[in-house]
Amino acid sequence: MQKVLVAGGAGFIGSHLCESLLQKGHTVYCLDNICTGNPKNLEELQKNPSFHFIEGDVTQPVKLPQSLHIDAIFHLASPASPNKNSSRSYMNLPLETMLANSEGTYRLLELTKAHSARMLYASSSEVYGDPLLSPQKETYWGNVNPNGPRSVYDEAKRFGEAISMLYVRKFSVDVRVARIFNTYGPRMHPDDGRVVSNFINQALRNEKITIYGDGNQTRSFCFVTDMVNALESLLFLDNLSGKVVNLGNPDERKISELATMIKEMTGSSSEITYSELPQDDPKNRKPDISLAKELLSWEPTVDLEHGLKQTIEFFKN
Ligand code: NAD
Ligand code: UDP
Repeated sequence: MQKVLVAGGAGFIGSHLCESLLQKGHTVYCLDNICTGNPKNLEELQKNPSFHFIEGDVTQPVKLPQSLHIDAIFHLASPASPNKNSSRSYMNLPLETMLANSEGTYRLLELTKAHSARMLYASSSEVYGDPLLSPQKETYWGNVNPNGPRSVYDEAKRFGEAISMLYVRKFSVDVRVARIFNTYGPRMHPDDGRVVSNFINQALRNEKITIYGDGNQTRSFCFVTDMVNALESLLFLDNLSGKVVNLGNPDERKISELATMIKEMTGSSSEITYSELPQDDPKNRKPDISLAKELLSWEPTVDLEHGLKQTIEFFKN
């Protein structure tokens, strides 16, 4: 059993990851400043004596118990929503986002080196920007606006990947990079403005379901338990240092289709409305996951309908 640091463990994906690591018998140190996370996510975790919460910022020196030796680090600490209407989004936490993925990644890489540990860096499908190829393979270098409104996230993730690979090459530190595609499920923050949580909450309240643009843009949605399984495999399997791997569900859907599905599944009387598409909003996103299948023997198992059902139940409660 290992001692695992989860930076960003109070967030949506991070809290599911902490829960799964504890179930497998690991000791978990969750480092989070709760800037976009939710203290509620920690309530159940804190009942487990193998769970330790450290309130702190990855861009500052990390204060760990002195004799503690860390075996593995997951770096998930970063705002993640693009929605400018949400105070939790990277649009409204732009400097925090750039620093969490640059200075924060640097500090966690140094910690990984000092502990001879291994690290997984949570990158994003956003490194592909508004992709000109579909599906996206890891070998595609992307189509990113380097200074537009999304650049604070996209370029920060690209920097995070670059510094991670520098540590692999120059210092032989064991780092793996996960390019995470749209992930959804229980514990998404209701106010973070991402599409699945927005549509479900709007539908449950019979409020307008807000499609941005004409709804023909696509995304491919991965249920959170599938994502956590992939993240664990990518970090814990041996001989994967330096690997950059797409993780996501290749089941590509139009945003208009998602709106209709959620409206029907919730039995909502909501009207579906259309407004302006945000600048640089990618027109499509679909991961090619052949590398994950090959290296991790992994593929998603939860289909969109079943995943949405569980997510709707969560928001109802
Ligand atoms: P989230 O906002 O729910 O979780 C992020 C967590 O990191 C929060 O608890 C937040 O408080 C914490 N955090 C942010 N900055 C910090 C800092 N400087 N120091 C310490 N803690 C900090 O988001 P999420 O959806 O769970 O995303 C987790 C990671 O996965 C992020 O790095 C995100 O960029 C990446 N990712 C997520 C998705 C997705 O669809 N959910 C897609 C691609 C990439
Ligand atoms: N979107 C939408 N209505 C919303 C929120 C998002 O139509 O209330 C669209 C958004 O413009 C994008 C897609 O849904 O095309 C996915 O958005 P999300 O914020 O979940 O993440 P992204 O994939 O853009 O990072």
